[in-house]
Amino acid sequence: MQRVGFGYDSHRFAEGRALVLGGVRIEHDRGLEGHSDADAALHAVTDAVLGALALGDIGSLFADTDPRWKGADSAVFVREAVRRAGEKGFAVANCDVTVLAEAPRLAPHRDAMRRSIAAALGVAPNAVSVKAKTNEGMGWIGRGEGVAALAVVMMETPE
Ligand code: MG
Repeated sequence: MQRVGFGYDSHRFAEGRALVLGGVRIEHDRGLEGHSDADAALHAVTDAVLGALALGDIGSLFADTDPRWKGADSAVFVREAVRRAGEKGFAVANCDVTVLAEAPRLAPHRDAMRRSIAAALGVAPNAVSVKAKTNEGMGWIGRGEGVAALAVVMMETPE
């Protein structure tokens, strides 16, 4: 059996924060604001996994008021979502992620992000796709106010 899940997330840029996307630390003059490490890509992936099995969402599982998640590595959220899906008999087949950011340029980090997301999902890197786009200068993403990420995950039971 197969189930598909979709996730979306966005975070605002802030001074004095590290920029972490897809579990990869990226050099930039600003990072993303958030309770955890604010990794919008891993948050979208987490919601996609949870969504595939209708297991709720990242906010209900990992409250942003919980001190346990302050500054947390968001790979923890991905792994917990995968573990919960596993309890339902499902494993990740593949994952496709799109990150929207006007800056910095993410293409040079794409393969590192693929490997990192794959490790968090417990799959081979060739089961993970990462695409990076600007927003062509339009809207809040285009003005460099923050980053958005979208993810689709296919989950399957063993043959
Ligand atoms: Mg988030």
